[in-house]
Amino acid sequence: MVDAMCSQAKLNMPWHYHPLLMLDVGDHLLCVICGLPGGYGYCCPRCRMMVHEKCVSVFDSPEITHHFHAGHSLKLLTQGAPEYTDATCHVCGKHVGNFLYHCDICKFNLDMVCVVQYHKHHKLIPVELSNMKVHEHTLTLIPKLISFVCDACGTKGDRSPYVCLECNLMFFHQKCAHLPRVINVNRHDHRVSYKYPLGRGEWRCGVCLEDIDWSYGAYSCSDCPNYAIHSRCATGDDVWDGKSLMEYLKKSKTSSHSR
Ligand SMILES: [Zn+2]
Ligand SMILES: [Zn+2]
Ligand SMILES: [Zn+2]
Ligand SMILES: [Zn+2]
Ligand SMILES: [Zn+2]
Ligand SMILES: [Zn+2]
Ligand SMILES: [Zn+2]
Ligand SMILES: [Zn+2]
Repeated sequence: MVDAMCSQAKLNMPWHYHPLLMLDVGDHLLCVICGLPGGYGYCCPRCRMMVHEKCVSVFDSPEITHHFHAGHSLKLLTQGAPEYTDATCHVCGKHVGNFLYHCDICKFNLDMVCVVQYHKHHKLIPVELSNMKVHEHTLTLIPKLISFVCDACGTKGDRSPYVCLECNLMFFHQKCAHLPRVINVNRHDHRVSYKYPLGRGEWRCGVCLEDIDWSYGAYSCSDCPNYAIHSRCATGDDVWDGKSLMEYLKKSKTSSHSR
């Protein structure tokens, strides 16, 4: 590998301060953009950093327009987020590395992972969601820092919720927008289903035993009128197996409950 480095011409790229080499690093280094093991790409021996050639195509322009920030163009920063921001991506919430796109008018950060998703059309965080279980209308991503209370779980969020533009004031965490309708939980004998709002009453969560605010979404049992679980508690890894039950199971309720 050292021999290969010496014979290579050095490349100066706008997105890195040191001269770079094009070479195959095998799986010694992870690509700083996609996080996958190296192979062929740009490599900085000084920083022990590598970037795939295909991943780096997002750097083609020091300024891009992006659907996550439609109002202004975003500028490439290569030395981390400015000190006046919180150094996280304002869409996905992850810590930004050295490379990010930024709007200095809005102080908006977008990490390379979110930029690359868009460029590859992976759309892991779609701008619109429809046919979701938590709400009957199409939900739209609001990609910015904004304080809200999630209607599906009743807890606070600080960035990039999905909202219903038709109902105006419905907010959802990105995660909560994907909540399932009917699930089995290991804390209760019957299946529980998502209900919004939970409905007037004094409710105590069957998992954490804390109060549940009835004006938000929660999971309840149709057989036990007083049983409910917080949305977050019902879908925790140690409570729910991750499987969403099909709607038709509701109809076969009588037979399955005769066990
Ligand atoms: Zn890559
Ligand atoms: Zn370097
Ligand atoms: Zn992100
Ligand atoms: Zn802006
Ligand atoms: Zn939520
Ligand atoms: Zn709506
Ligand atoms: Zn709970
Ligand atoms: Zn029950």
